[in-house]
Amino acid sequence: MIEMIDVWKTYPNGTHALRGITVRIKKGEFVYVVGPSGAGKSTFIKLMYREERPTKGQIFVNGINLEALRERRIPYLRRHIGVVFQDFKLLPKLTVRENVAFAMEVVEAPRRQIRQRVKEVLELVKLSHKADVYPDELSGGEQQRVAIARALVNRPSVLLADEPTGNLDPETSWGIMQLLEEINNHGTTVVMATHNREIVNTMRKRVIAIENGEIVRDEQRGEYGYET
Ligand code: ADP
Ligand code: ADP
Repeated sequence: MIEMIDVWKTYPNGTHALRGITVRIKKGEFVYVVGPSGAGKSTFIKLMYREERPTKGQIFVNGINLEALRERRIPYLRRHIGVVFQDFKLLPKLTVRENVAFAMEVVEAPRRQIRQRVKEVLELVKLSHKADVYPDELSGGEQQRVAIARALVNRPSVLLADEPTGNLDPETSWGIMQLLEEINNHGTTVVMATHNREIVNTMRKRVIAIENGEIVRDEQRGEYGYET
């Protein structure tokens, strides 16, 4: 479970990105985070994996108090949380297989386990046949599937996605959404910031709308609710 209690984030330049966010996301939920550009969606997600720290307030992920977490324990948090981004963030000099394995090497998993699990997640994202190619030989959708495989390889209970379909054409985006839904159906909590109105209004889930750093709407089977 993810819990934020009265969370505020002011960046060093004085920008108030979040103002008093209180929210609970239960294990197994699928949540869209929507809102205008600059509303605070990315900041909201970054706080959950401690890419950023709150100015005030408390955040818990699976009972881990992020504020109290020591720097050297952050890799331990990252086993509970996988993250995917709009621009994929794959390592260009590593093959698909190596990109995915790398996430397990970082947490010092045993070699045999790495080999087995990498094989499994590449099957899950249907890229076994591309295991030995480099990211620049893949389409955008394939690159995002590699990024998803990498995010899942350590069996996190939470998958965070910041505009995962932002660089993809509509058809490819639907493929990625089906994959995220399948992952969610296996019990993984998914929190996804998105501007994709069609996806939010078709694949109906909980919608949290953020505007100007505040939650202005939180509906169980919500709608996108903006014109663009
Ligand atoms: P969104 O994801 O909804 O577009 P962000 O969380 O990226 O919103 O940004 C929220 C606000 O915080 C914006 O005004 C943005 O310019 C500002 N902001 C984001 N990151 C930083 C940063 N590292 N330093 C200063 N201001 C930032
Ligand atoms: P196992 O039973 O082998 O432990 P689970 O199906 O319980 O595997 O999934 C554990 C984690 O592995 C999930 O949280 C997810 O990250 C990932 N995972 C494994 N298989 C799938 C799948 N088919 N779809 C989505 N996620 C999967």
